[in-house]
Amino acid sequence: LEEKISILEKQIPKTYPDVRYLNYLARKRILVTGGAGFVGSHLVDKLMKEGHEVIVADNFFTGRKLNVEHWIGHENFEMIHHDIVNPLYIEVDEIYHLASPASPPHYMENPVKTIKTNTIGTINILGLARRVNAKVLIASTSEVYGDPDIHPQPETYWGHVNPIGPRACYDEGKRISETLTYAYAKQEKMQVRVARIFNTYGPRMHMNDGRVVSNFILQALKGEIITIYGSGGQTRSFQYVTDLVEGLVSLMNSNYTLPVNLGNPVEHTINEFAAIIKELVGGNSKIVHSSEVEDDPQRRKPDITRAKKYLNWEPKVNLNVGLQKTVSYFREELRKFSHSQRN
Ligand code: NAD
Ligand code: UDP
Ligand code: UDP
Repeated sequence: LEEKISILEKQIPKTYPDVRYLNYLARKRILVTGGAGFVGSHLVDKLMKEGHEVIVADNFFTGRKLNVEHWIGHENFEMIHHDIVNPLYIEVDEIYHLASPASPPHYMENPVKTIKTNTIGTINILGLARRVNAKVLIASTSEVYGDPDIHPQPETYWGHVNPIGPRACYDEGKRISETLTYAYAKQEKMQVRVARIFNTYGPRMHMNDGRVVSNFILQALKGEIITIYGSGGQTRSFQYVTDLVEGLVSLMNSNYTLPVNLGNPVEHTINEFAAIIKELVGGNSKIVHSSEVEDDPQRRKPDITRAKKYLNWEPKVNLNVGLQKTVSYFREELRKFSHSQRN
């Protein structure tokens, strides 16, 4: 009997697969379009740390290799220089479709290209997902609500968008991107997810992308004038990037197929926001008001009931904590820049 037991004991480890084997089974091949950008690179970090194979497709319009350079050379990581307006033929299990400029000055720089990226680009991604039977998550935006006349904004609100205004290339581009996604889902029986992302900030934001967080922090750090467009009474709600990434992955892994708002409901006027950043950075920057921006949404705050209910998700990072991390990142970037200028 003892001999039999000892033989059985030796067999046990073989009967139960070890953790590495289980991880291998759970590993997915995941495409992140726009993965060299601000949000995309943080998402790549999470997926890589979970042990997945990650492929980034990016044309580096607003993204940069530096954002993902720490993964270059890793056996699970691959980067393709690719413009999503062109077809892409690869084999993957999941797709996070983030490719699109996100800040107003960037998406207005070449509006036709912004529209092509969000229409033809999304068609290509949906075509790819259809061919390989991949689950696909589309990064949409709170801009689909336009200048909202309902506050806060639930997903059931259809929006208030000027179809021919300066923001239309982005807003309508994202709206058609959502429409395409649900048309494919219905017609081709595909698994789709749509995240309506609200204003997000954090390290690796493009320094000169003209968004309010980067502008105010840079202006405060350099002791320059802090520029508020218009009265500053308009509001935004800012979420820290790691909260967003948690939400994106939860949404992908959920069974929920309708659009989901991902944002932090803590709302501030732009005036308050300028004061918070000035206080945090210190320095003597003056706060000055300049002319208002055309079609600037006046109020924005997510209703996140859906995300709480279906994803069990809500943001965790407090604004001051998130801003401190972002200020440190910008400070370091400025230091590197001035160092490279000197040498
Ligand atoms: P970002 O500009 O930092 O990143 C976008 C990435 O997409 C960049 O790396 C860029 O080079 C790439 N890209 C652009 N056009 C492309 C094309 N035609 N082909 C391939 N790559 C292309 O912006 P982000 O803040 O990281 O935004 C990521 C996504 O989230 C975008 O789809 C954006 O619309 C959405 N979003 C962001 C916010 C926010 O506050 N950051 C809010 C709402 C929605
Ligand atoms: N597509 C792609 N990769 C693929 C499959 C399709 O980029 O692996 C593109 C292709 O350019 C096509 C688009 O996705 O135009 C839409 O594909 P779909 O199969 O829906 O349409 P069709 O090929 O019939 O036009
Ligand atoms: N804004 C500002 N000063 C700046 C940049 C932006 O007052 O230097 C304002 C802008 O008019 C808007 C808000 O801040 O009301 C958020 O602008 P951002 O471009 O960051 O994002 P979005 O308008 O897409 O929410």
